[in-house]
Amino acid sequence: MQKKPPTDAFLQCDGCKKTLFRNDFEQNLRVCPNCGKHHRLSARTRIEWTFDEGSFVEMDENLHSVDPLAFPDYAEKYGQAQAKTSEKDSMICGTAKLQGKTVAIAVSDFSFMGGSMGAVAGEKVARTLERAAEMGVPAIVFCASGGARMQEGLLSLMQMAKTTATVERCREAGVPYIAVFTDPTMAGVLASYASVADVILAEPKAMVGFAGLRVSKQAGVGKVPDDFQMAEYGVAHGMIDRIVHRKELPAVLTLLVETMGAGK
Ligand SMILES: [Zn+2]
Repeated sequence: MQKKPPTDAFLQCDGCKKTLFRNDFEQNLRVCPNCGKHHRLSARTRIEWTFDEGSFVEMDENLHSVDPLAFPDYAEKYGQAQAKTSEKDSMICGTAKLQGKTVAIAVSDFSFMGGSMGAVAGEKVARTLERAAEMGVPAIVFCASGGARMQEGLLSLMQMAKTTATVERCREAGVPYIAVFTDPTMAGVLASYASVADVILAEPKAMVGFAGLRVSKQAGVGKVPDDFQMAEYGVAHGMIDRIVHRKELPAVLTLLVETMGAGK
């Protein structure tokens, strides 16, 4: 009897709907070989595929939300997200190396409640920027978020001011801060620490914007361009410096770290 291939040997690209061999897809860093769609990565996979092997040292890993507003169902959803992702919250941070050069990093995980920024994610970004300033090394933050976490209300919105203010610490210390927009980089994250980096890179076709398309239409903005809220639109309008294919990200980040100095 002929053996059937395991069902998970294939997957369908949600960009072009083509059926792909999972092996090819993985080999291609989860970029569709047909349409080039950069599929989302977990924060840990991102770290593994971007930085020197085994160089990541996680910090502040025990920070977790205390459900400050006792928001209905938040504790339950938070617990489910932790169980699903095996993460404490939506942001992972620490130090890692790029071709031997130390950098302070924070990486958002979209699969944890849409990468939303509550007090924990904000605190981790702020600590990463402070760590970079103290160590005299570059800060690199990977964004992947729908915005502020509504279940933490005003405390989430406060993270916008806190993280943005902390960027100044890097400026004072003369260390570069690089942000990488991945799909999606939206709302309160875009409107705070993400958009004030010294260099802003983005993955191809990452959704980048403040209000989503539906909300924008409801606000009566009328017809929007085809590439509305795409990273490419951000490049054309001076908001993003460069689009970088996932395969090239380690080399481009290494070049930036070496060129802008401040790497130990
Ligand atoms: Zn595709």
